[in-house]
Amino acid sequence: MRAEGVFSTVGTKFDPLTGLYNRDAFYTEAQLIMGARYNTKYSIVCMDISCFKIINDLFHVETGNVILRAAGEYLKEALNPRTTLSCRADADHFILCIPTEELDIEKIIKELDQKINSLHISHNILFFAGIYPVDNANLPIHQMCDRAGMALRRIKGSYLTRYAYYDSKMRDQMIEELLITSNLEIALMEHQFTIFLQPIFDPKKNTVISAEALVRWFHPVHGMVSPGKFVPVCERNGFIVRLDRFVWEEACRLQRKRLDEGKPIVPISVNLSRLNFYSLDLAEFLSLLLEKYELEPWMLKLEVTESAYTDNQVQLLDMISTFKKLGFSVLMDDFGSGYSSLNMLKDMPLDTIKVDMAFIRQLEKSQRVAVILKFIAELTSALGMSTVVEGVETQFQADYVASLGDVAIQGYYFSRPLPIKDYEKLLDKYLLNKEDDKNAVN
Ligand code: C2E
Ligand code: CA
Ligand code: CA
Repeated sequence: MRAEGVFSTVGTKFDPLTGLYNRDAFYTEAQLIMGARYNTKYSIVCMDISCFKIINDLFHVETGNVILRAAGEYLKEALNPRTTLSCRADADHFILCIPTEELDIEKIIKELDQKINSLHISHNILFFAGIYPVDNANLPIHQMCDRAGMALRRIKGSYLTRYAYYDSKMRDQMIEELLITSNLEIALMEHQFTIFLQPIFDPKKNTVISAEALVRWFHPVHGMVSPGKFVPVCERNGFIVRLDRFVWEEACRLQRKRLDEGKPIVPISVNLSRLNFYSLDLAEFLSLLLEKYELEPWMLKLEVTESAYTDNQVQLLDMISTFKKLGFSVLMDDFGSGYSSLNMLKDMPLDTIKVDMAFIRQLEKSQRVAVILKFIAELTSALGMSTVVEGVETQFQADYVASLGDVAIQGYYFSRPLPIKDYEKLLDKYLLNKEDDKNAVN
């Protein structure tokens, strides 16, 4: 005899909570319906709810269940059961198999939102959808769902875009991401990563005052891989924490080497990706690095990107205060790119603001940008901080930045990021030949 109680789903085709198909049954039925109605074009739609985990944590699991049941009810009532299949695959994930010509995704999302809002749960609950219009009916159904899922992941976290269509570029990007991920470990072991240094220039003193360490990946087959490609992947899979530590250590090694050679140095800025702030030993790791290479804290500057501020303000403030106690300078990168730049200035004990490149790019076109840059320079100076403008590419931009007073320049106009050897040559040129500047730097 089969032990099949009220709570058992063994052998059933349906999700006990919503009464929709479960995933396995959906896969079988969807394959059947698409096979039987081969003249009809179908779309697979993956849907989920924003911050469902938070809703479960904040309220009660039962509240989450009420939401899921309401969504299930809507899907049963609103969609044509003769042509359309719907399932709850797991947690807050719903999948539809619907004739493309019957699919009005904006209407579905709007009505689902309305249905959920009518429950009066005080949290903004929103539905998101990824859509794969089936163009290859021979694909196994789970791959069709993966494609709709890829489109959905693309818009995760954005509140303005509520649905997205799968396109083949997404698949290429996914494959590229997988390739990058599977190569990272070996790349680190085989010393395929290195640092380049981009000098930061003080137009008033006419010399280099610091440099930013930027990671570079020389792959033995693919050649140079741009950080724009692999850094975001590393941020998603967590590898960035190890990569950043590698970069910091390379920067320290270079400082030590020059000091041992009796050559002058300038502080090197290193990037701290936001994931680092979840490592409990972050400050300790940095202190040990200084100890290991016998450096003083001013020789390393820490760049924190402005968007990290939105993640966890209290934790970030704590960490920055700890850095300051240890004697490090802290620099806010990409200033002006986030939503809370001024709040952040109010709260954070920063030394330097690095103005996001997007500003200087528009200088030639917009008088307003000139005013904003001037305002930022005055504001940071009044708050006792210094300013760097990043992305300076033209003489016009460089002249304008120089006219702002104590504002430093980072950009191709002065120098691109350089391999260590070239960076050292440039540093020697500026610092060894100019006694005045040397004093200014040390
Ligand atoms: P970022 O931290 O804002 O670094 C500045 C980027 O702007 C660098 O790109 C630099 O080469 C580029 N840049 C500098 N001057 C100019 C200019 O005049 N014009 C233009 N068009 N670009 C300029 P890069 O090296 O490709 O790095 C891109 C981003 O990758 C960095 O932006 C940073 O977010 C990330 N990244 C690079 N190295 C590291 C690292 O070691 N750790 C972490 N966490 N992120 C890194
Ligand atoms: Ca940076
Ligand atoms: Ca930047």
